[in-house]
Amino acid sequence: MLYNQVQDLKGTIRVYCRVRPFLEGQANGQSTVDYIGENGNIMIVNPSKQGKDARKVFSFNKVFGPNVSQEQIYIDTQPLIRSVLDGFNVCIFAYGQTGSGKTYTMSGPDLTTEQTWGVNYRALRDLFQLSKERAGVVKYEVGVQMIEIYNEQLNGLNVPDASWVPVSSTRDVLELMKIGQKNRAVGATALNERSSRSHSVLTIHVYGKELLSGSILKGCLHLVDLAGSERVDKSEAVGERLKEAQYINKSLSALGDVISALAQKSAHIPYRNSKLTQVLQDSLGGHAKTLMFVHISPEVNAIGETVSTLKFAERVA
Ligand code: ADP
Ligand code: MG
Repeated sequence: MLYNQVQDLKGTIRVYCRVRPFLEGQANGQSTVDYIGENGNIMIVNPSKQGKDARKVFSFNKVFGPNVSQEQIYIDTQPLIRSVLDGFNVCIFAYGQTGSGKTYTMSGPDLTTEQTWGVNYRALRDLFQLSKERAGVVKYEVGVQMIEIYNEQLNGLNVPDASWVPVSSTRDVLELMKIGQKNRAVGATALNERSSRSHSVLTIHVYGKELLSGSILKGCLHLVDLAGSERVDKSEAVGERLKEAQYINKSLSALGDVISALAQKSAHIPYRNSKLTQVLQDSLGGHAKTLMFVHISPEVNAIGETVSTLKFAERVA
């Protein structure tokens, strides 16, 4: 092992909860978040319930309130990302119902303002910078791959065969992302719709050669913006929509099963039950590290999804 600054995170599964702020125009809405503790606790209040049933506490590694900046979120994620250059495999997931802030955390609201960049661009910037700093010791090559999993089918976004493309700067990656977006055969609204029903996986492969010893390091970072976790009313959804919902449900439960089996150190890890867990198999478990950001919306009408999101997350924590 070259650098040991991340020993404390080795082989762990961490769960961070992030609460989205109220959106513009709903500033004074009533929030279902009653209390956020320093110690990773969050108390949820359900206004339609009375007495002690109305409040419930959930515990995670950390809870980020609505005013926490993109930069602060990244600072807590950075050690994990840096460990990729030491040869670790890392998976970072964004989980939550549609509209809860998954894409905001992973990508940010837009590419043009660095200040609001999400985890993925900050991670790339960091990886490139750190690999330059280490250039006298290790020669690194970095490549990216973007895939989408929709209805249990895998599609490459930037290139037809989803192969990985070598990159040497954040700018290269931004260019690729733009091409990837253009290649999708759907318009902006449809894109947004569809993105909430597919899992998108940005993988950053790192290949390093130690100059002195000639030994090889391989690491990869998967940044996964999951499909929306909301339950679809079976009596309302029909046809294509129902099929999508069933696929999403199946793959998110399969992911939950894999992570909770890993957390409990089970002998059998059920990777085969979904395309997503199959694709990520080599980076889930073993010496790999996993971080899940679970997102919740503060609005009262989201309470049902908020509680089921937090229950899901507690199961994997
Ligand atoms: P999702 O990807 O889960 O469907 P989005 O990331 O698209 O949700 O977020 C929904 C809306 O809320 C977007 O307009 C986004 O800019 C905004 N939003 C989400 N999280 C935050 C945040 N932490 N701070 C400010 N705005 C946010
Ligand atoms: Mg999204």
